[in-house]
Amino acid sequence: MRRYAPLLRMREVPCCICRMPFSAFLILRSARRAGNPADRLRSAPEVSIATRSNGLSEGRTIFLQRPLALIGFFLALLFCRPCLADTLVLDGAIEQGGLVHGRTEPGAKVTLDGRVLRVAPDGGFIFGFGRDAPASASLDVVFADGRGVHRALAVVQRRYDIQRIDGLPPEQVTPDPALQERIKREALAVSRARAVDSDLGFFAERFVWPALGPISGVYGSQRILNGEPRAPHMGLDIAAPRGAPVLAAAAGTVSLAEPDLFFTGGTVIIDHGYGLATTYQHMDRLDVVLGQHVEAGTPIGVVGATGRVTGPHLHWALNWYEVRLDPALAIGPMAQAAPR
Ligand SMILES: [Zn+2]
Repeated sequence: MRRYAPLLRMREVPCCICRMPFSAFLILRSARRAGNPADRLRSAPEVSIATRSNGLSEGRTIFLQRPLALIGFFLALLFCRPCLADTLVLDGAIEQGGLVHGRTEPGAKVTLDGRVLRVAPDGGFIFGFGRDAPASASLDVVFADGRGVHRALAVVQRRYDIQRIDGLPPEQVTPDPALQERIKREALAVSRARAVDSDLGFFAERFVWPALGPISGVYGSQRILNGEPRAPHMGLDIAAPRGAPVLAAAAGTVSLAEPDLFFTGGTVIIDHGYGLATTYQHMDRLDVVLGQHVEAGTPIGVVGATGRVTGPHLHWALNWYEVRLDPALAIGPMAQAAPR
């Protein structure tokens, strides 16, 4: 169920937990001095994790044989028990475009740069960083008993591919004014779908690739036409052949299903809960309707070349509410290339 982004895994705990590794180190040292074959426990942090989770059998081996270690173990528990529940764990890419999954105590209040995050009953939450997110962010957690944890996050800054094209005829740069009304209306419908704030619990699911094929367009790239910056490319282009199935990347509810939007053609948006949404564009055919529930891997349409495109492909986008994220940072490597 947990998802691990490929670039960075962070494990953070409140400062008071720092006593755990130290206590565990003392246990280990006393066991080693007494000749216990505990050398396979290579480092103090590993011991601390083992005693917090399901690795107690290792600890048992130590303290059943060595009374001193037993006393040390219970002393450690005595000191650290109030802290055990205060964990804050972050998994994901702390970088521009990155999606981060967090877990903390149920009932805790979490804010990112002052923005209140929705926390699931089990303590899970998510947040993300936009294309041009600043280099630092503040994550604050206040537990039910009033204690708090502050984390300063260093957000990795990326360089994007910028392409400058000059000397184009003006009509290719500025869209027909007659279309402006339609474009505005459609943009509003899309942003409403992405603003859906449901409590669906599918935001923690591991993504499956919605289509298979070479990546022909990456997140964040931008073209500057006749000196005018165009909207950056905020998704991943997968050059799958026309007619290839498009699959839901995770379970959720269809929050938009439009067969013919001006820019994006056949477009589906799926809400996965807690502000996480995936978007699928340029499809030739849609196989789902608004409000429909889908599972991860459910066929939702076929790859096409509808909207403003130069060839068939799937444009796949990922949003945390209005923040546009990089799907490539939130999914593992593609298992295989598309059949040719
Ligand atoms: Zn695209």
